[in-house]
Amino acid sequence: MVKIVDTTFRDAQQSLIATRMRTEDMLPIAEKMDEVGFYSMEVWGGATFDACIRYLNEDPWERLRALKKRIQKTPLQMLLRGQNLVGYRHYPDDIVEKFVIKAHENGIDIFRIFDALNDIRNMETAIKTAKKVGAKVQGAICYTISPVHTIDQYVELAKKLEEMGCDSICIKDMAGLLTPYEGYELVKRLKEEVSIPIDVHSHCTSGLAPMTYLKVIEAGADMVDCAISPFAMGTSQPPTESIVVALKGTKYDTGLDLKLLNEIRDYFMKVREKYKMLFSPISQIVDARVLVYQVPGGMLSNLVSQLKEQGALDKFEDVLKEIPRVRKDLGYPPLVTPTSQIVGTQAVLNVLTEERYKIITNEVVNYVKGFYGKPPAPINPELLKRVLDEGEKPITCRPADLLEPEWEKVKKEAEEKGIVKKEEDILTYALYPQIAVKFLRGELKAEPIPKEKDIGKILEIPTEYVVEVDGEKFEVKIEPKIGTELKRKKEIITAEMEGAVTSPFRGMVTKIKVKEGDKVKKGDVIVVLEAMKMEHPIESPVEGTVEKILIDEGDAVNVGDVIMIIK
Ligand code: MN
Repeated sequence: MVKIVDTTFRDAQQSLIATRMRTEDMLPIAEKMDEVGFYSMEVWGGATFDACIRYLNEDPWERLRALKKRIQKTPLQMLLRGQNLVGYRHYPDDIVEKFVIKAHENGIDIFRIFDALNDIRNMETAIKTAKKVGAKVQGAICYTISPVHTIDQYVELAKKLEEMGCDSICIKDMAGLLTPYEGYELVKRLKEEVSIPIDVHSHCTSGLAPMTYLKVIEAGADMVDCAISPFAMGTSQPPTESIVVALKGTKYDTGLDLKLLNEIRDYFMKVREKYKMLFSPISQIVDARVLVYQVPGGMLSNLVSQLKEQGALDKFEDVLKEIPRVRKDLGYPPLVTPTSQIVGTQAVLNVLTEERYKIITNEVVNYVKGFYGKPPAPINPELLKRVLDEGEKPITCRPADLLEPEWEKVKKEAEEKGIVKKEEDILTYALYPQIAVKFLRGELKAEPIPKEKDIGKILEIPTEYVVEVDGEKFEVKIEPKIGTELKRKKEIITAEMEGAVTSPFRGMVTKIKVKEGDKVKKGDVIVVLEAMKMEHPIESPVEGTVEKILIDEGDAVNVGDVIMIIK
């Protein structure tokens, strides 16, 4: 008998409507879903925490409590990014412990815990704490394809997770790369060598997932992750109803009631209608490019928007070719939050600056130094040499061992700001300090759900036109009017001028590290630019004196804008 993990309230809506489903759309159907007999319901974690406070003006802790009140029979499950919890950086152990304790107290029964690098040291504290409070732990293995990733390795990892006390194993195939026959081999080996249940989690992005589910079930998978049909397929999970019917009458029969599932389906058709403008056509069609480039679907659409932002959409193919090279240089990390962003942005920079690693993001520097954990394969020695100072070595310890405890500090800060009504508010503040303050003070408003009449705002306005003058055609490109002030200054100082330092891409100046008159060496960081949601230190190309600074913090700069004169 195969069991179904329902992902509708977490991964399905995260993958299809950018995590915008409101709690008010979950509660009316929660009790009925509790009747189905799912193995568990994944309702929390991943991006839901961030989206609740950032876009929905909802307290994620209250959502969890409200769901727990209505879902009493089915275990509630969350996705936890190991030491990153539901954020994007490593948090110290005391914050991890507090978070797990509070998540359990508020209703989480099963913690699905993963690390982007499959570095178990980043999962240890969360696993231990969850076990200590009496919750169940599902140890997740990020599945990827590379010359260094083998079935043997995944099996070894699963054995270690079992030794650490995990109650089940999840094969987390975030990009939908797992093929039916590879999946069969993997699950068969896991069933031979570990004794805890195996869950397979995949996405329909590449079109393989329903086929893969059938083969992994034949190989002995105990659970598969599915979503109710109106929130299934595309970049989401396979549909529950189809899997239930496919297995009916066989020894794998899920035993789930199709009539009840259909009632739930009818409810979610209405929810789907409410959010229909958020379903992007891209997320609903099979994107087989993922099988060629091994780039997850979400990452592809992210790249397109990054390149658009830089006015360099014509470089898309070059970036697609650069991604596997950067991934190789970094020791083949699986591409999942946050490694997908780290690899993708560096690849974009390598292409835009026309010189590989001319600019290295802070995130890549930290990754190379070992602060994200141990990469699956060694890092390219040349890149290592470029990033590290003379005599410096990457760290080899568990990254969180270097982090000072934070709980007392953030507690004091949050109390001083007057935003603490319950202990959970301190955690919200520790995870998202900027938004949490506004959210907890009630200064945020929920983002409206886009309606049909807003469609013009969603559709891209073309920026390139062909203009015909006297029978002759001209190509015209329209750019948003930014950096006007800067352009005025640029009339006097052009990039050809001696000592002119130009911006390598379009972005915003977040920090100016020097003053006029300062002496700088070649390679000193002079400015920090924010572009593509990451910070990029810009180094001085020469040794000399800063003669003139032409930008202010907060300025928007374009490719080729003069930012400084250094002579
Ligand atoms: Mn997923």
